Amino acid sequence: MEVTLLESTPDPERLICQAARNDYMESFVGETDFDDVMASIDGDSLDERKETLIGHLLEHGHFGPFEHPHATFAVKGISRSCMAQITRHRHVSFDIQSMRYVSFDDVDPDDVRDGEMVVVPPSATDPDWVGRNQESGPVDDETAERREELFRETIGDAFESYQELLELGMPPEDARYVLPIGSKVNMVMSMNARMLMHVADMRAAADAQWEIREMTEEVLDIASEWCPITFQYYEQHMKNRKNRLAP
Ligand SMILES: Cc1cc2nc3c(=O)[nH]c(=O)nc-3n(C[C@H](O)[C@H](O)[C@H](O)COP(=O)(O)OP(=O)(O)OC[C@H]3O[C@@H](n4cnc5c(N)ncnc54)[C@H](O)[C@@H]3O)c2cc1C
Repeated sequence: MEVTLLESTPDPERLICQAARNDYMESFVGETDFDDVMASIDGDSLDERKETLIGHLLEHGHFGPFEHPHATFAVKGISRSCMAQITRHRHVSFDIQSMRYVSFDDVDPDDVRDGEMVVVPPSATDPDWVGRNQESGPVDDETAERREELFRETIGDAFESYQELLELGMPPEDARYVLPIGSKVNMVMSMNARMLMHVADMRAAADAQWEIREMTEEVLDIASEWCPITFQYYEQHMKNRKNRLAP
């Protein structure tokens, strides 16, 4: 998996502050110098004032101003299972690589078995891995070996069947039905900073599956650089909170 920032609102925290201050200013924010917009906020410098205001907004649950800055991420090589989970979030916009127009007819099934086209979960290769919904604990070496073998065989066989169906004239949009839910897909997703916090509430949480958690942690790392005051505050005071931003 790889997560890259494609585009984002420049100076997002200035925008958050302008939007928030608009609510309480007599003068028009569109015609007021940013130093004057922030003049009444505590702090010795503009950066300190931004920190004060953003901390205050987050602490008091005034989340509206965080809807103005947007970021667009390109995500490479997540499973269709992870894609189905993240696309449940209705305020995120998506573009998903098509299996109708991209056919995988020249892929070597042995490369598939090596994990090239399908995400191989840690539980397939690590005997000590214990997933949230796993009924048994860590397994012995023989069981672990068979588990990995069966997983790799099945995904390779599925791609072999898919390619044979293409050769037999089945259109890619129908032949893809035999491909595993772990098949890798690339996507582009855009969201605002408020939604990013909500996605993190739900998907960086301990009860989320490892893959979407990993993706969300990467998105959060990028967000901490893009919108540093907000996401440092989020990491320190809001992450893993019981009362999430939205239920
Ligand atoms: C650990 C975990 C397990 C899950 N398991 C399942 C499962 O087994 N089956 C399943 O179907 N889903 C499952 N989900 C998905 C989950 O139920 C939500 O659909 C998904 O997380 C989207 O989040 P959201 O409901 O906050 O909505 P989002 O689309 O992210 O919207 C954000 C917020 O906007 C508001 N909102 C958006 N749309 C509406 C609306 N139409 N009406 C009212 N308010 C709205 C809500 O306050 C919502 O919280 C799971 C999620 C997690 C994190």
